[in-house]
Amino acid sequence: MAEYDVVIGLEVHVQVKTNSKMFCSCANRYGEEPNTLVCPVCMGYPGVMPVPNKEAIDKTVVAGLMLDCEIAKYSKFDRKSYFYPDMPKNYQISQYDLPFCEHGKVKIGGNKGFSGKDLPPKEIGLTRIHLEEDVAKLTHFGTYSGVDYNRAGVPLMEIVSEPEIATADEAYAYLTSIKQIMQYAKIGNCDMEKGQMRCDVNISLKPKGSSEFGTKIEIKNLNSFRAVHKSIVYEIKRQRRGYDNGETFQQETRGWNDDRGETYLMRTKESAHDYRYFPEPDLLPVTFTDEDVEKVRVTLSEAPLAKQARFIADYNLTDYDAEVLTQNREVADYFDAGAVLVDTPKLLANWIISELLRELSEANISIDECKIVPQQLADMIKLIENKTISGKIAKKVFSEMFSSGKDAKVIVEEQGLVQVTDESAIEKFVIEAIENNAPQVEQYKSGKTEVLKYFVGQVMKLSRGKANPQLVIELLKKNLD
Ligand SMILES: [Zn+2]
Repeated sequence: MAEYDVVIGLEVHVQVKTNSKMFCSCANRYGEEPNTLVCPVCMGYPGVMPVPNKEAIDKTVVAGLMLDCEIAKYSKFDRKSYFYPDMPKNYQISQYDLPFCEHGKVKIGGNKGFSGKDLPPKEIGLTRIHLEEDVAKLTHFGTYSGVDYNRAGVPLMEIVSEPEIATADEAYAYLTSIKQIMQYAKIGNCDMEKGQMRCDVNISLKPKGSSEFGTKIEIKNLNSFRAVHKSIVYEIKRQRRGYDNGETFQQETRGWNDDRGETYLMRTKESAHDYRYFPEPDLLPVTFTDEDVEKVRVTLSEAPLAKQARFIADYNLTDYDAEVLTQNREVADYFDAGAVLVDTPKLLANWIISELLRELSEANISIDECKIVPQQLADMIKLIENKTISGKIAKKVFSEMFSSGKDAKVIVEEQGLVQVTDESAIEKFVIEAIENNAPQVEQYKSGKTEVLKYFVGQVMKLSRGKANPQLVIELLKKNLD
């Protein structure tokens, strides 16, 4: 069987989070009654004038800088003509030859791919990022269709990659990375279920090592990362089988049927669409000076990968800890705020990863809604560090903090949980445990030293969990030997 190279490029649409729409003052808000956020501009009435949204342009520049793009000194909007019910003007204001951002890159790898395997680090080139207006949302019912113009005119970024993605796992990692950066920089929420992030895949196969590209197949309207991954895996198999059987492909657009787990033909492209792009006559070109760009650059938030590297270097975390803590910006900020307050940031990281994130997911709330603020968790860590409480007692304290929001110190005092480090007090328990368990003492003396664990358990029970475990072991050994 012949071997093939897989060539994948992704077009990702991201709705920009702004107060108002791209060219009018209607609110940019998801989930309202259909057709309630509309005006003559976004409904395309004759004679209306668009006014560009500065917030959307600024955020597109931020996206470009976060993704290592060059920002155009001079760019413009263009009209893309097409006739369809989702676009009331019969043209969309978009950008054709002079987009805001070009030549960027997206770093992938390090993080787990869809299959849970580690991916080697790789950079995927970005061709461009341009800004346009979203179209209305069509919903198809049995015998009729509904159209909601609330979405028409919402600012929409299109991020186009170079055809440098080689596997479904890389595509998944690429999308994960884009989404993470958009959320870090507060450019968009990227909730795919709400259509705030949408993805088209271009995929072709060519004989291994060949410099000529195969026939490009487009898969449209994928609405989850999972669907992107599965459709790519499916398409690779389908095209490979075709080429192996000597078939030829023609350029076509396919859809994804999630229930059947397969792509299906939507339309073949006989010729390229003629959108008759021309410069939008109602809008001035947009210009940026170096100074403008630098002003934005200094406001950029730290990128997720940079944050990971800093956590490892400054706080002595493992790769795994740093990756988990930076997946979500709010969690990373939480850790950052607490880490400077404690002596052992690694201990804080462990508590966030193993306890806090678990409690949050069980309660189905975000870290911003958590009753324990970073300062409080840091205070609890300090109680462990200075041996006021043991790690075991801390679990009890933590769970109480999580539900009540009380300070660790208050809980420890209220419930009398201070760890006993007074030798004579612990020794009393040790002697009691030895006196009560003669058979185990025999076992220990005959060389079965593993019964020490049993004695530790007995002493902890007698002290109601408050004895310092290291001291317990020391004193047991002293009294048993
Ligand atoms: Zn409007």
